[in-house]
Amino acid sequence: MPALAPSRIVQTSPSSDSVLIIGAGPAGLSMAAALADIGIASTVLEQAPLAAIAEPKEDGREIALTHRGVGVLQQLGAWQDLPPEAISPLKAAQVFNGQDARFLGFTPEGQGTDRLGHLVPNHWLRQVAWQGVEKRQDRVTLRCGTRVQKLSLLAQGGRAAEVVLEDGERLAAPLVIAADSRFSASRRLAGIGADMLDFGRSVILCRMHHELPHQHTALECFHHGHTMAWLPLQEHMASLVLTVNADEAQALLDLDDDAFLAWVQTHSQDRLGTLRLAGPRHFYPLVATYARRFVARRFALIGDAAVGMHPVTAHGYNFGLYGVQTLARELQMARRHRAGCDLGEAVALERFEREHRRATRPIYLGTNAVVKLFTDERPLARALRQGVLQGAAHLPPLKALISQQLTGKGPSLLRQIRALAG
Ligand SMILES: Cc1cc2nc3c(=O)[nH]c(=O)nc-3n(C[C@H](O)[C@H](O)[C@H](O)COP(=O)(O)OP(=O)(O)OC[C@H]3O[C@@H](n4cnc5c(N)ncnc54)[C@H](O)[C@@H]3O)c2cc1C
Repeated sequence: MPALAPSRIVQTSPSSDSVLIIGAGPAGLSMAAALADIGIASTVLEQAPLAAIAEPKEDGREIALTHRGVGVLQQLGAWQDLPPEAISPLKAAQVFNGQDARFLGFTPEGQGTDRLGHLVPNHWLRQVAWQGVEKRQDRVTLRCGTRVQKLSLLAQGGRAAEVVLEDGERLAAPLVIAADSRFSASRRLAGIGADMLDFGRSVILCRMHHELPHQHTALECFHHGHTMAWLPLQEHMASLVLTVNADEAQALLDLDDDAFLAWVQTHSQDRLGTLRLAGPRHFYPLVATYARRFVARRFALIGDAAVGMHPVTAHGYNFGLYGVQTLARELQMARRHRAGCDLGEAVALERFEREHRRATRPIYLGTNAVVKLFTDERPLARALRQGVLQGAAHLPPLKALISQQLTGKGPSLLRQIRALAG
């Protein structure tokens, strides 16, 4: 990974027409790059130190990107900045229920491609998002180590929004975009509520070498009491995604490497042969969020601050990228329509809200329903999920629909369900 000189980022005050973005995660940085490409300057405010953003550390997450997600990264030039060895093709997925050797398989058949999507380590996505901002220094200012503490959306008699930083400094802008994580404080400061779903479960991630070839196929195994997913990286290497109750997660984290490996080997049902640890364990609690609104006066939410997904359907960052694309497009259209228009104007923001809700809501609800069904240990739920898997296996249009939603290649879920129904 190239070492980037932090001093090359300017730390000046924003100009009055520059948009403020709160959060320099991958969504906030991609938003700044997308705005720069349509001629809109922005200042990104980030609480973490610059080193954490410029040289992100490996965090165990392997992000499955849909074809649409890759398309947005290509438009931003970020995809081209990824080293080829950071990209692993995802050619198929197999879903298992309990000990049953039968599985429900998904392939990209009929979608004009040989892969469902791509897997890229999260720290590489963050790295290229940072590089994108570095390349656009004429239109992006990044201020790190500075936390937003207050927000006023009715400053200057309604002509601007204003944020107040930890040290009391005030910054005004026509539009504030919050990308400050699923626990977004800005969302709350803007008076926007969110539905939050704490699954009471946690995920442990760990890279493993394995004896048998994975053939670029992801395995999702719903066992009783835990879920074990294997994401294929380079051949004979996969990322284990182990979902367990929060208390069991702690017990598994407390095991030494040998005991942890023995536990995984026993529960893997030898689907990948003999296993060997290939990296440290990482841990994340699982909480999903969906903001009740994505916009307010002079304010928009993107990334996890708008929609924070359970990772099982691998959509979180993809939705972040879709939001970046949609918001940039609406702001560009508003400007085309009327040169010098106020970027905080409601019409463009409302159009973004409608489109982003349409793209995310059905998959958010569907993902939560799948998680509920596949983690419920009552006999009725077990029977039901067996029925769902068998039903889907015997209904090719339903399987194709799920596959298209996983890859981001098909039309919206609602439109497809209507077509299936009649
Ligand atoms: C285990 C796991 C697996 C995942 N797998 C996938 C997958 O396969 N596919 C997929 O698409 N997605 C996946 N995701 C989701 C993806 O990682 C997230 O959607 C994405 O990282 C969110 O980026 P973000 O920029 O919105 O938020 P974050 O990365 O959380 O960034 C928010 C930033 O805001 C800053 N901030 C917060 N508050 C303030 C403040 N007051 N002032 C200034 N700065 C502030 C923070 O310091 C942080 O830098 C996964 C997530 C997890 C946990």
